[in-house]
Amino acid sequence: MQPLVELDHVNKYYGDLHVLNDIDVSIPKGQVVVVIGPSGSGKSTFCRAINRLETIDSGEIRIDGVPLPSEGKALAQLRADVGMVFQSFNLFSHKSILENVTLGPIKVRGLKRKDAEERAMHLLERVGIANQAHKMPAQLSGGQQQRVAIARSLAMEPKLMLFDEPTSALDPEMINEVLDVMVELAHGGMTMITVTHEMGFARKAADRVLFMADGKVVEDSTPESFFSNPQSARAKDFLSKIL
Ligand code: ADP
Ligand code: MG
Repeated sequence: MQPLVELDHVNKYYGDLHVLNDIDVSIPKGQVVVVIGPSGSGKSTFCRAINRLETIDSGEIRIDGVPLPSEGKALAQLRADVGMVFQSFNLFSHKSILENVTLGPIKVRGLKRKDAEERAMHLLERVGIANQAHKMPAQLSGGQQQRVAIARSLAMEPKLMLFDEPTSALDPEMINEVLDVMVELAHGGMTMITVTHEMGFARKAADRVLFMADGKVVEDSTPESFFSNPQSARAKDFLSKIL
């Protein structure tokens, strides 16, 4: 079967720094992948390359067998197909919660406002924010804003969701409300690539763990075997510091 995401011998440099070093990974539809590794190992660059927020220097990235487009309408389409949620919530601060979630579907997917609003309310319901739809982002807590950011991505009906440390800017009491939404999404069949050090999420939801160090995928295994029996010295050292 055609994988949903393929990174085919991908390399990227920042000057002398080999930030993605021969990344060769193929992800089937529906798989939930957790990417972990030390700070600076290339995890964010890996995610950003997949929706072409970063270019690569060699190799190829394909979604559904099609190489990533580089510009124009096709690029806007890609960004809609590949949702991304960042550490910082990145909501449009001058727009209401509802508008945040309807804007993309109206502009990029061509939905009528009424249909976009119906879809948005359904998604806000799903992430537990429906009663805040007419508020502005600054009136919500960090955890609520991050759930809106997830709903906003989902409103585009993405094929793939990328999460780059979505809970690391949150106060501890808000982490679980965001992780719960992500676990539900994972169990619902969404293909996901999540950079996180939340082991609870990895154990509950992930099919696969990629451990990155120095721009390379050093281990590629199940959460069970990665956490209980890491193979490399790098992974053992990393786990000893975070567990
Ligand atoms: P991680 O998310 O694993 O912490 P990143 O992908 O953000 O790692 O960064 C990997 C390395 O690339 C780091 O050493 C970082 O300093 C460097 N880097 C990231 N973005 C840039 C950039 N725009 N220009 C130069 N170096 C960068
Ligand atoms: Mg990062």
